[in-house]
Amino acid sequence: MSSIWTRTWKATPKVDCGLCGLPNCASFGRAIVFGECEIEACPLLRLNGFASLKAELKSICSRAPSRRAKLAPEQPEGGVLFTRPCKDTDEKVMAELRVFNGVKTGEPILFGVFDPRILCELMDCLKPHFDLVKCSRDLGYGRADVGEMSITVLQDGRINMRRVDDKEAVMRLFERMERVLIGAAVCNSCGRDLLSILLSDRLSPHEDSHVIFDGGSSLDIDKSAVGMKLTRSGFSKLSDTLLAPILVSIDSLIERLRESSESVMNKQSVEFEVDNLILETRQKIVDVLAAGTLENASIRLHCLIGVLREFEISFAGLSEISYHLDKISEERSSKAIGWLTRGLKGDLLEDMPDEEDEDMLLIFAHAMKISRLFGFLKDWT
Ligand code: SF4
Repeated sequence: MSSIWTRTWKATPKVDCGLCGLPNCASFGRAIVFGECEIEACPLLRLNGFASLKAELKSICSRAPSRRAKLAPEQPEGGVLFTRPCKDTDEKVMAELRVFNGVKTGEPILFGVFDPRILCELMDCLKPHFDLVKCSRDLGYGRADVGEMSITVLQDGRINMRRVDDKEAVMRLFERMERVLIGAAVCNSCGRDLLSILLSDRLSPHEDSHVIFDGGSSLDIDKSAVGMKLTRSGFSKLSDTLLAPILVSIDSLIERLRESSESVMNKQSVEFEVDNLILETRQKIVDVLAAGTLENASIRLHCLIGVLREFEISFAGLSEISYHLDKISEERSSKAIGWLTRGLKGDLLEDMPDEEDEDMLLIFAHAMKISRLFGFLKDWT
């Protein structure tokens, strides 16, 4: 059975526009389950086309668990709960470790530790490093095997290992997994994923209460990476050799998003075909993270993974804008194109139209994502 977080996310509009004040629909879903946000905060859920989702969300919230349902156990030193000889062979060890998202011992665990969708995106990028990798977004469960050794990752942050050579190998594996998977960690105080928090430039009201900054078991979450200026030269300085191909891919995605937006505004048909480029770029970043060669810059590299997610949702949004532009009048179309034009400059912010028209509101929501991305990238060149 799916976790409550997966079911809640499935019942949101899955547009990730941020008009509710939260960075994406998954964070909104986590906020409404514990009454931190009203369903009405999402303007799209007021539209007739989303009425069934709204009813489903209300039903999930009415059956939501108590805030005090589960309390956080003590966080073990370095994340290691135990290591001991395997039951079937003394020559290998088994271990249980825990990725920490900052929740204090004895306080309620509100959201689990990992966002299951981000967890599986990151687990998928570990495929070249293992013989077999599987991950279920519904169950929030991942598994990675190499030879007879197996690692399981659970949504609550536990990482179990079987048939590992020795304790040192356990720690090396855990550090590698945590460097990659920390991007899927969810802040226990606000329910936002770390990738969104890193990219946010509007942190100040929450900054002191983001317990995620106390998180990380074998690494420190570098708070100075939050809202950092995303400049090409800044990443080049970290390692031009390792990061050059990644930076070139981001240049290419910027160019293609601009060109594709121009085509959409001119009502030309356009094939985006960027999925592979996004996947390959994420893979390259995870390869650097897994190798640990830029260990001190791990959290900064997660900022780039966050940017790739923004590209993914922006291209999906552009496709939706193209669809809705075809359905509206010329007059409305020019207004909508104006939003997209501003989105490409990164300045379509806090300017929600008083729109009841479904097509127009959806175009605005999708243009907001493009605006947010170009806002993050305003210092890129
Ligand atoms: S406002 Fe946007 S991000 Fe927030 S829940 Fe609605 S669709 Fe998702």
